[in-house]
Amino acid sequence: MSETVFGGATERDAPLMDIQRAELPVRIGISSCLLGERVRYDGGHKRDDYLVDVVGRYVEWIPVCPEVEAGMGTPRETVQLTRLDGDIRMLTKNGVDHTDKVDWFARQRVQTLEQARLSGYILKSRSPSCGMGKVPVVQPEGAALRNGRGVFARRLMDTLPHLPVEEEQRLHNPRGRENFISRVFACYRWLQLADSGLTRQSLMSYHRAYKYLLMAHSQEGTRRLGRLLAKPERYATTGELADAYLDEFNRVMKRTPSRRNHTNVLQHMAGYVSDRLDARTRRELTRMIQKYHEELLPLIVPVVMLRHYVREFGITYLQDQTYLHPFPGELMLLNQL
Ligand code: SF4
Repeated sequence: MSETVFGGATERDAPLMDIQRAELPVRIGISSCLLGERVRYDGGHKRDDYLVDVVGRYVEWIPVCPEVEAGMGTPRETVQLTRLDGDIRMLTKNGVDHTDKVDWFARQRVQTLEQARLSGYILKSRSPSCGMGKVPVVQPEGAALRNGRGVFARRLMDTLPHLPVEEEQRLHNPRGRENFISRVFACYRWLQLADSGLTRQSLMSYHRAYKYLLMAHSQEGTRRLGRLLAKPERYATTGELADAYLDEFNRVMKRTPSRRNHTNVLQHMAGYVSDRLDARTRRELTRMIQKYHEELLPLIVPVVMLRHYVREFGITYLQDQTYLHPFPGELMLLNQL
């Protein structure tokens, strides 16, 4: 259980959908070389210290190296994506074609990954197997265009379209990192919801708990989701309703929240506590939100203040908001925004 110290008091994290109390592990698939496994063509690795040492404390990794697991061995000849007769193939410099072998492996492996109930996937950028975008594709005239997707990544993303997927490079940026980790824990909570049975009521509860976090990503998107749940008769089954909701939810969550939207959300939430505060404390809260807006303080400062007051005054509606507890506080992702 994580704890946050504020104003001399010790504050426990979110009571609802508490990711650290739940029994299901948070599983994330990952390109093996990012964990430091020596699976690269030259027998090396691409260990990502942040992922291994920080994120690794909260998740269970499911490592996959498509090239080694498909039988290409280590060390091996390098491969590159190459446009050939209108198709994109994975070839060595000598023209040996590994596309079908890796794609066949990817089909089988993604099926087992689906059963592993992943909450996210981190791919190695620029790899002809694992890269999710901007992988160089050699053109017939010899030049390379950076517009390809790796053979394994393509199969993974086509088969599991709701899975949050990101490349390690984008996770070096605080906004990209926060966005991905938020989506991972949203997906994790969704899996828990699905386990307990999807009903219109449970979808409404999920939406309510995510309302302010969604608003930070897009106010219009949040309204669209609300309208979708308000008209369940448009869908033949609850499963169809849930699919439509999840499609739209993921679209909204992929948008990076702006400082303006965060400020808006903070002000909304402050509205629920301000009439219980004395004038001096109320001014202090307003000042901290304004300072965040002016980029003079990180987001964590007003968020921790709000968490404290919400808990202190027992405001159940806000206690359940994932905006105040999107992921384990120790990841300290809000300190960098
Ligand atoms: S990028 Fe993918 S295929 Fe290449 S070494 Fe890493 S895990 Fe293996």
